[in-house]
Order: sequence, then structure tokens, then C-alpha cells
Amino acid sequence: MSQQDDFDLVVLGAGSGGYAAALRAAELGMRVALIEKDKLGGTCLHKGCIPTKALLHSAEVIEDIKNAANFGVAAAFDHVDLAGVRKYKDGVVGGLFRGLSGLVASRGIEQIDGTGQLSSPTSVTVTPTAGGAQRVVSGTNLLIATGSVPKQIPGIIVDGERIITSDDALTLDTIPRSVIILGGGAIGCEFATIWNSFGAKVTIVEALPHLVPLEDVASSKSLEKSFKRQGIEFTVGAMVTEATRTPDGVSVSLEDGTTLSADLVLVAIGRAPVSEGIGLETVGVETYRGYIKVDQHCRTSVPTIFAVGDLIPTLQLAHVGFAEGILVAETLAGQQVQPIDYLGIPRVTYSHPEVASVGLTAHSAVEHGYDIEEVTYDLAGNGKARILGTSGIVKVVAAKNGPVLGVHMVGARVGELISEAQLIVNWDARPDEVAQHIHAHPTLSEAVGEAHLALAGKPLHSHN
Ligand SMILES: Cc1cc2nc3c(=O)[nH]c(=O)nc-3n(C[C@H](O)[C@H](O)[C@H](O)COP(=O)(O)OP(=O)(O)OC[C@H]3O[C@@H](n4cnc5c(N)ncnc54)[C@H](O)[C@@H]3O)c2cc1C
Repeated sequence: MSQQDDFDLVVLGAGSGGYAAALRAAELGMRVALIEKDKLGGTCLHKGCIPTKALLHSAEVIEDIKNAANFGVAAAFDHVDLAGVRKYKDGVVGGLFRGLSGLVASRGIEQIDGTGQLSSPTSVTVTPTAGGAQRVVSGTNLLIATGSVPKQIPGIIVDGERIITSDDALTLDTIPRSVIILGGGAIGCEFATIWNSFGAKVTIVEALPHLVPLEDVASSKSLEKSFKRQGIEFTVGAMVTEATRTPDGVSVSLEDGTTLSADLVLVAIGRAPVSEGIGLETVGVETYRGYIKVDQHCRTSVPTIFAVGDLIPTLQLAHVGFAEGILVAETLAGQQVQPIDYLGIPRVTYSHPEVASVGLTAHSAVEHGYDIEEVTYDLAGNGKARILGTSGIVKVVAAKNGPVLGVHMVGARVGELISEAQLIVNWDARPDEVAQHIHAHPTLSEAVGEAHLALAGKPLHSHN
């Protein structure tokens, strides 16, 4: 026995991309069904952005206490109360989850708890989580937003105990004495910061020549310098060949013959799209290397079916999922929608120090054929950075006599500075135009101003 329903839009997966589409579509008057097999909010809310940033804030509090003497404050760090940290993290996640659930309900979206599979270009068959009969949910259009899961390394078996992924790392009930992190991207570097502050000995192994390898090389080098100072070890340009359990931990072999050992190994080499077992072949949705192929409006090869978020080959970030979800809803509502400019999207790694960027790196700008000018402003010259005790850079890449193409920053709180950089890049502003804007003193944002002043040929607190 199966029950049949009709909606304007049926969304499969209630993570950032799926729920954003559902909320916007409902706002635009559509009847929406939102199918989720786990929890509303998906990876970002339950296993990604939010819980990791809560742990990073605990790490920051630890560092503040440990470094209190530098600011003339006598405070002694005692220990990390992991149960307390988890309670705080779960409290943040729980509060946001309740808020989101209320919002979805208030927009009249029908939330369906179950695992869905496409059964035709306009229907999804749902196996309810609570058991019982399958349900066929039909819609004029379907949106696939099933997201991603941690990528595995062939031959390395994740057991969830000694060899773990970021999902497992969020629920550990002990602090490891030592950790090897495979992958020096955003997730790897964020966990390196967390565990280093919690007292573990951390070693990162990265296959590419630098940590945060997608960033401008100046940002990578600045982060590497700071990690070294903090005692976070890393090996770059190193391929892992094996990771095996030993009686008291894990042993990791590298291609060059080096062997490393630790209590725990975190596999953080990226995220794989969830595109298998959801009926794509049944309805003929085309994929490439597991990612769903879409056009500029996130429409798949089947005209009634759209896809957004981590399972399409765009940046795997929550705010990208939100933007793509909104784009689909507005496209379906018949609005004139501008395609997303993926180069204009801000990227932040919330390690200590933070790494934030928008637009082209110097290397990619040259590859795009630009004749470039660049300035790297050292935060050592910024009053607020000195007050906070942070170091880092603001690097601006501009086309010669033309607009700013990219801004790259490293330092405490630079994730909060990226919004100005994003306006500069997305508005095609020239350095001399930005240089006219007066920044409040003393703020970190002055460093953004100083870098543009220097590029405009009139540096204030830096040399030409
Ligand atoms: C550790 C970590 C830290 C991160 N930090 C950040 C950050 O700071 N900032 C940032 O922008 N991004 C961050 N991300 C990335 C961000 O979480 C993802 O880009 C975002 O969650 C992708 O959204 P999505 O909607 O594509 O997929 P997801 O959030 O993965 O949601 C997909 C949903 O679909 C459901 N689903 C899957 N298959 C089915 C099915 N067959 N039936 C029903 N439901 C199904 C899943 O249960 C899931 O809830 C982080 C990720 C991780 C892992």
C-alpha cells in the first residue's frame, strides 16, 4: 500500500541546500515537501560548521587562559572538561535545531521523515524512518540535496575508534594524547587547532605542497609559520600509503618510507557526494565522477529535477548550498535569477589563526591572463592585531590599473573581515577607490584599508 501526494516542489535532503530551497519556495507560495532521513539541518548544523566552530571557541578560551599572563592577567589553566565542552556544543546545536524546526513548520512545509529514492522525474518513494508503508511523494519539480560524506582513502579502513572521520571526532569522549591528521585542508586545520589547544600532539600530513592548498600561497605560508610556532607539526607533499592499528594506537606509513604513530588518525581528505542509491539511474540524471551535472540554474539533465549543495561540483560550503537552494526556488517561481558567481564567494578556515579569502589567488589571476599587482600587508603594523597578540597578513591581488581580483587574509578574526573584501571583489572596486574609505581606528579592518592604500601608491603605516 502506498499513499500519493502532490507538491510543487519535493526536496530530498534537508541540509543547507535543501532546507534553504524549501524555505524560499514556501515563502514564494509553493507547496513544499522536505524529505530527510536523519535530522533537519544536515551536515552543517549537526556534524560540520556549527559543532566544529563551538569546539574552536572552547579552544580559543583555553588559549586565552593559557596566554593570560601576556596581558597582565594571572589565570591558571586547569583542565578541559570534555563533558562540559560537549554540553556547550550540543546546546548551541540544539538551540539552532529547534529554531530551524520551528521556522520550517511555520512556513507550512511538510517535513517527511524517511529515506527517499527517485522513482520518476516527478516523484520520490520514501521509506519512513519510523517504519510502515512506503509513500510516493510527487511534485511538479524535484530537488536533490543529499549532500556529502567524508571521503575515504583506498586501503585505509575507518573503524570509528582509532581511525576516524570528522563525524566521529565530534563525539569523542576522551582527548587523544597524539593525533595524525590526514589532510591539511579546512577541516584538517580546524581539528589541528582544536586538538592542539586541548593538549594533544598534532601532526598533519598533506599530499599537496602546502597546508590549505587551495588558498594563495602567502596565506598557506603564514598559517604554516603560525602552526609551527604553536607546535603543530606537519609534513607536506607527502602521500600516505598505509594506516594500521597497533596495540596502543595507529601507525601511518608515508610513501617516502617515514612511519608515524599516534593514538588516533583523523581522515580529513575531503567530502564525497551522496549520489549512489538515490535512484539517479532510474530517472536518467547524469553524473560526473559521482557529482550531479547541472546548468547555471542547478537544473540537471532531467528538466524537472534540480540539484544543489555538496553533491554538485561547486564549492562544498554551507553558504553556497543556501545560495543554490534559493536560486532554484526563485527560478521555479519564474523570477529573473542571476547565476551564482562562484569566484565571488568567501571562504574561511576557522583555525587559529583564521584564513579567509575571496576571489582569485595571485597564481590563478596570472593563469586567467591578468597582468597583476599585489601587496601583502603584515598585521604586525596594525594596532588592534598587536593588542590582540595576533599575527598574519592581508594580501590584495589586483589587475594592473584595474579592479581588485582577490583578497587573502590570515589572523585572528579575519573571518569577520571577509565581508568587506567580498564587497570590494564583487563590486570590481579599484584599489584607489577602496583607499578613499576611512576605516575605524584601531580595528583589524584597517589592515584591509592599509593594503589598498599601499596598492594605490599611498601607504600610511607600511612601506612602498
Ligand atoms: C567538519 C566540517 C566542518 C564544516 N565547516 C564548514 C564551515 O565552517 N562553513 C561552511 O560553509 N561549510 C562547512 N562545512 C561544509 C558544510 O557542512 C556543507 O557544505 C553543507 O552542509 C552542505 O549542505 P548540503 O545541503 O549539500 O548537504 P548536507 O548538509 O550534507 O545535507 C544533506 C542531507 O540529506 C540527507 N539525505 C541524504 N540522503 C538522503 C536520502 N536518500 N533520503 C533522505 N535524506 C537524505 C542527509 O541525512 C543530510 O541531512 C563543514 C563540513 C564539515 C564536515
